[in-house]
Amino acid sequence: AAKDQGRNRFNYFTASMQEYARYRMRLIQDLRQALERCEFELRFQPIVELGSGKVFKAEALLRWNHSERGSVSPAEFIPVAEDTGLIFEIGNWVFEQAARQSAAWRKAYGREVQISINKSPIQFRDEGNRFAEWLELLASLEVSGSGICIEITEGLLLDAKMGVSDKLLAYRDAGIQVSLDDFGTGYSSLAYLKRFDIDYLKIDQSFTRNLETDESDLTLCEAIIVMAHKLGMKVIAEGVETAGQAEILTRIGCDYAQGYLYSQPLDIEGFEQKYLGKHQVIGGGNVS
Ligand code: C2E
Ligand code: MG
Ligand code: MG
Ligand code: MG
Repeated sequence: AAKDQGRNRFNYFTASMQEYARYRMRLIQDLRQALERCEFELRFQPIVELGSGKVFKAEALLRWNHSERGSVSPAEFIPVAEDTGLIFEIGNWVFEQAARQSAAWRKAYGREVQISINKSPIQFRDEGNRFAEWLELLASLEVSGSGICIEITEGLLLDAKMGVSDKLLAYRDAGIQVSLDDFGTGYSSLAYLKRFDIDYLKIDQSFTRNLETDESDLTLCEAIIVMAHKLGMKVIAEGVETAGQAEILTRIGCDYAQGYLYSQPLDIEGFEQKYLGKHQVIGGGNVS
């Protein structure tokens, strides 16, 4: 019986492995075609200035609208895109899309919205060739470097091999800003904050979530804000969901907040209606 059990377990294991392998292969195939089929979309989540309540920034979050599966979460497909190298092409698309959107909004509304894009550490390996192209694109669209912000994670700063320092300096030279995303969840050492030129710290939502009830989270947020300011950085709180959290963050001097309290990530039209105000009708009136 013990032997049977063992065998059954083994069978079960191989079956699920096969299933997983098949699922993954399908995902890779679909992902390869997703760009041609225009299945990707950027959603924009406002980053609100806490002092004024104004919105000058938005984070671009990638969505994959799969023909059968519906919306696939980036948490699911970004790792697969990284393993297959497809992330480079996708990342290029994201950059181009963000730059074009920034230009379009400036043209239509006379406002510069700084658009943040996310970059996984792996994406940095491909930068060499693309960077010059990206700067050309910005120039041709007449978008200044500061129209774009790049969100990186702490893990990247630990990887000395990738020439991170030079790349961040190249961003700086181009006026592109840099945010450290999910701050406090990685393995970073504080020494990196001194060594690299970073404009914004984004406090991870795991610290803002219990801000109203957990005193140690409050202490950590306060300490991060004081430290960031002394080092010349601004602070963005992620995952702000309640008015109470926003009130506390304002009181302790946090600069910006982002989260469902203000808005979910919105499609282009939604963002325009809510945050840019329609001075002029674009595309000929109401579409239903
Ligand atoms: P992230 O950069 O930390 O983005 C924040 C995530 O929190 C987003 O999830 C956003 O929709 C979600 N969020 C925003 N406000 C709230 C809130 O109030 N409460 C809660 N619980 N969640 C909130 P999303 O869009 O599913 O993205 C997940 C992650 O996928 C992102 O985390 C980012 O690391 C990655 N990602 C998204 N787009 C891209 C991309 O274009 N390129 C790369 N490399 N990664 C991306
Ligand atoms: Mg982010
Ligand atoms: Mg984050
Ligand atoms: Mg996150």
